[in-house]
Parts: sequence; C-alpha cells; structure tokens
Amino acid sequence: MSALLNAPQREAIHYLDGPCLVLAGAGSGKTRVITQKIAHLINECGISAKNIAAITFTNKAAREMQERVAHLMGGRVPGGLTVCTFHALGVRIIRQEAVHCGLKPQFSILDSSDTVQIVSDVSGDNDKGIAKQMQWQISSWKNAMITPEEAAQLADNEIASTAALLYKEYERTLRAYQAVDFDDLISLPVRLFDENPEVRERWQNRLRYLLVDEYQDTNRAQYRLLRLLSGVRGAFTAVGDDDQAIYAWRGADVENLRLLQVDYPKLKVIKLEQNYRSSRRILEAANTVIANNEKLFEKRLWSEHGIGEQIVVTNCPDPDREAETVAMKITAHKFENRTRFKDYAILYRGNHQARIIEQQLRNQHIPYVISGGQSFFDKPEIRDLISYLRLLMNEDDDLAFIRAITVPRRGVGAATIEALGNYAGHRHISLFAAVFEEGAAQHLNPKQLEGVQQFAGFINRMQYRATREPAAQLLEDLLTAIRYEAWLFEHCTTREAETKWSNVRDFVDWLGRKGAEDGKNLIELTQTIALISMLDKEDPDFDGVQLATLHASKGLEFPHVFLIGVEEGFLPHQSSIDEDKVEEERRLMYVGITRAQRSLNITWCERRKAGKEVRVCEPSRFIAEMGGDIRINDRKKSGPVSNEEGRARAANLMAMLEARSKPGA
Ligand code: ATP
Ligand code: MG
Repeated sequence: MSALLNAPQREAIHYLDGPCLVLAGAGSGKTRVITQKIAHLINECGISAKNIAAITFTNKAAREMQERVAHLMGGRVPGGLTVCTFHALGVRIIRQEAVHCGLKPQFSILDSSDTVQIVSDVSGDNDKGIAKQMQWQISSWKNAMITPEEAAQLADNEIASTAALLYKEYERTLRAYQAVDFDDLISLPVRLFDENPEVRERWQNRLRYLLVDEYQDTNRAQYRLLRLLSGVRGAFTAVGDDDQAIYAWRGADVENLRLLQVDYPKLKVIKLEQNYRSSRRILEAANTVIANNEKLFEKRLWSEHGIGEQIVVTNCPDPDREAETVAMKITAHKFENRTRFKDYAILYRGNHQARIIEQQLRNQHIPYVISGGQSFFDKPEIRDLISYLRLLMNEDDDLAFIRAITVPRRGVGAATIEALGNYAGHRHISLFAAVFEEGAAQHLNPKQLEGVQQFAGFINRMQYRATREPAAQLLEDLLTAIRYEAWLFEHCTTREAETKWSNVRDFVDWLGRKGAEDGKNLIELTQTIALISMLDKEDPDFDGVQLATLHASKGLEFPHVFLIGVEEGFLPHQSSIDEDKVEEERRLMYVGITRAQRSLNITWCERRKAGKEVRVCEPSRFIAEMGGDIRINDRKKSGPVSNEEGRARAANLMAMLEARSKPGA
C-alpha cells in the first residue's frame, strides 16, 4: 500500500477492534479511508473479499469506489467484494431470501411514478398532487419502519387515518403485483433480519466487515439495517460529515451520527482536519459559509495547498445568458489552460435547470454528460420498453402489463382493461393470470378476450426465450415484433420519432454491453435498471463537461466548478426559506463549493421566469456569506430589468460585496 495517508487516516484504517466513525469535513479523505481500508483488510488482515461490503450513496460513487479499489489492488476489483448502494444491497438480500419475504425472486421494483400511480388508483382520486402527497406520507412511514397498523394507531385526525388506510391498501397492492418500492428495499431486509435470527446470522457471517460512506445521509431504516448486519461485533467503519447532510427531505436523519455514539459506547471517533482537495481560497469560502450554521460537531479544515485562483461571482440577465456565459467561459478557460472537458462541472439546484445549459452547450459544440438526472430512463419510450422487460420477468406486475399492452395499441382499449381488472380484482389475481381463466370470458366480449389472449401468449413465448437468450437480442426481436419503430413514426412528428428511436437504440446497446460485461441475465438487468433510474444514470467514460444537481455531486470532485443559479429563492430555495430550513440549503451550498479543486465560478440571474411572470432576483445570501475574498464580475449593462426596486436591492448587495472584496476591508 503505497498511497499517502496521514496519521488519523492510518489510525482509522488500522482500527479493527470495534465500530469506528470517521467524522470530518469535505475533501479530508474520508472516502479514501474506506478504499484503503478495503485493501488493508484483504492484503494485511487476510479477510476474504467476499466478506467485505462497502456501501455508498449513489451508483456513480459505487463505480468510482470500485475503480479506486481496483487501482489499489493491482488493476482488478477482488472477486466477491461488495461495493454498492444500500438499495442495491437490499435488492440482493431480498432476491436471495425472497421466500422469507413472501416474494418470488423475480419481483418488480417500482419507481416513484409507479407508486404515485398506485396510490392514485387505490384512493380513487385522480389528483396527482394529492397522490404525491399521500405517497410521500407513506414513504415517510416506511422509512421510519412504521407499519400500516401502527400508522392507524398513531393517527390523530381524519386525514392521517385516511392516509393510514391508504397505506394498507397500497402495501396489499404492491404484494399482489409481486413488487416492491424503494423504501421496501431497506425495510424488508430489516424486518427479515429482525424476525429471523437464522437468516440474520447467515448474512452477518457473510458480510463480516462493513464500510459505509456518506453516513450522515442514512435514514432510520438504513441505520437499523447497518446495526442488524454488523451484529454485536459492530464490525464496521462509517465515515461522514454532518455539514454535508442534504437528504433530510428524503428521511435522512443526522441524529444517526449521535445515535451511533449512544448505541455503541465503544465507538471510536476519529476526526480528519486536513483538506487535500481544494485551494485555500475555496476552502476558506466553504468554511466561512458553513460557519453560519449551528454546529453539531466542531471541526475546521485547513489545507497545505496554495491560495489558488480567484473565486468569481458573475451576475447574468437571465438563465439563457447565464448558460451562454458559462459555456463561453469554459471554452476560453479550456483553451488557455489546455484542460479536458471533463475537468469542468456545472452544478445546479434543480434538475430542470439542466435543459437550458444543455442547449447552450450543444450550440457551442461542447460535449457533456448529465449525472443525477433521471432523464434517460424516465423517457416515455424507454419506460415503454422497460415495462416489457418487467413483464417478462414478473407477469404479475400489473402496472407493466397495462403499459405494455397499450403501447403500441393492439386494439385493447381502456374498456377491455377495466373489465379484465374488475375480474382480476374479484378473483384476487394479477391481470396476466386473469387472461387465462375461464371466468374471464363472462366479463370480456370475444373480441376483447382475443386481444388480451394474443398479447399474453406473445409475452409467454418471449418469457420462454428470456431465460435462454441475451437480453439485448430479446429486446431486439421484441421491438420488431411489436413494430415499435413504425409505431413511433405513426404517432410522433418525424423529428420526435427519430430522437425517440435513437434513444431506443442507445438503450438496446446499453443493455447489450451491460449484459455482456457483468454476465447479467434479464432479471438482474431489469432490477439494476430500476436502481439506476432512482439516483443516477450510467455515464459512458468520455470527455465531457459534467452536469449534475448539487445533490448528485456529493462525494465527487472536479478541477473547475461552475455553480449556477445562486439566487435568493433558488439557493436557498423559496420553500426552505418559508419553512425555516435554510441550514440544509447552506449545507447544499457547502457541498457545491467543496467539489471544486482549483477554480470556482458562481453565477446568478437578475431575472427569472416563474410561470408567465418574470421575477426579479437578488444574489443569494450565501454569496455574501462567502467572505471578502471573491471577485465580483458585474455585468449590469447587459439589459433592462422591469422591477426597479429589486434591482436597486441587488445593486446594494453587490456594492457591499465589492467593498468587502477590497484588500483590508
Ligand atoms: P467528501 O466529503 O467530499 O466526500 P472525502 O472526505 O471523502 O470528501 P476524499 O474524496 O476521500 O475526501 O479525498 C479528497 C481528495 O484528497 C481525493 O482526491 C483524495 O485522493 C485526496 N487525498 C485524501 N487523503 C489524502 C492524503 N493523505 N494525501 C494526499 N491526498 C489525499
Ligand atoms: Mg467522500
């Protein structure tokens, strides 16, 4: 092991007597502790790779970790080593213990649009907004490991009681579909281990050492899973940073950091204070911003790096001009510094901001990749195909059944599906199973029956092949059989159809590569896709500017970072200001700043469209909080603004920032 490590890092790596928590700020080498510790466990301690599991937050982080480990271990990831997300580990546990969970191994994994659909189906309410809210409530219960029965008991008003009832129905529906949602991927294993000591011990013996990255963002259920897996030995190392906790909105609970100390009195806590990532200016700005939050744990980062390039703050008239400015700056900077495109990252608060940036990058012929967006696997044409894959894997997946049978249409209309659904509901079986029951003939007319039977027969034939042939070949034949390309061109403009078809081709290619690389069969591939669409998408390894939401950028680092849309109401987000949750937004800003190694560019817009209105914006309070050592690049002359007062306020703030940025201020 030749890599550089400082003393506390080495201590964390060599400590094996019990649970260990590394609590430290951004870029201090926490993730490095994990990768090095894996190598140490295998090389020096003789622990078999298959007994080690490292858990990360996103698939991208998991891939990066695999690369880092391979690098340390002479070029290959040791066979049997588990490096994955909590959710992927959950899939693996449920698949192997399916019988104990009341599922078949080919269970479907539903994403949030599926689950909202189910909620809206069981509630009989077509209002998507309400369904989303209810789904959110159900998800919170599941993350807190509260059962429908407990939810009903806890309910102290009518709305909560209704939601609890809905929760029960929702769970019933999921099981009927032989499907799980993302929350189940954690809560089912927890329940299983809680109730079944034999199974628990088997897994404890299999995963003898656990390493958890980004620990601050685990939720209650994930924490329980960690506890159950690590058992009384408490053989785990968790690393985290409370200042980077940015998933409270999804049930993550920083309390888990404190809980660890309570639940494991022997917990060894190690702090790292040297930052190896960023220039001193960037680090100083990050420290100064986060100092405005109330502290959970005291820590201050320092760096041996040089002072580095100026941090530049630029105001732009609107998001289009902002995107244009960023694209031009990247081109110029790249030309001057002979860098690669992939040295640049553009980070933003919300996914929707990507579109404008994408347009500008395309205009200026700058290659890019988006991570953290759900874009690709969420495209309707890709969802169409995934519904076929899901159905091939698990014919009880009614949502997949409905989507597949209606796209492309085979003369099977809403009335047919409704009749079939009534019958299936009455018999408590899936739609697919209902097709072949004799009783179906009493509910469907002969023509309807013929339509659904033809479809089900087709699926049956494909299923037979699914276990014998590569997934990509299967999908290829399926596309021909359903005449998907022709259907696209009949139903969309030529241009749209071309784009969609090219996405389909990308998907088939991806499936082929993935299947060949990992030797995965259709079931494993389909379950993998569900996980990818949840958090991030696989990026091909090519030279492109990296686009990511701040949330998805966690744990990553880039030489040059552009943080865009840094305005009041946007970052911090208006809803967080209203709900008094600015601290979480500040942590988001902290995450953004600390991704940068050498240069940091911040932009904000003076005007932004909000529906039909144009809103006048002010620079984010976080810019003022960054301290004096920044350069203000004022582009005031770049266009008129409608609201004078807002503009005056923005100008005032600028003046204040400028005054502070003068030496000696
Ligand atoms: P984050 O909180 O953002 O996830 P982190 O604490 O996980 O950050 P790492 O990503 O592990 O930090 O490390 C940041 C950078 O510093 C990496 O490029 C890593 O290779 C480097 N690094 C870590 N430790 C050392 C060290 N002891 N000597 C030199 N470089 C180091
Ligand atoms: Mg890290």
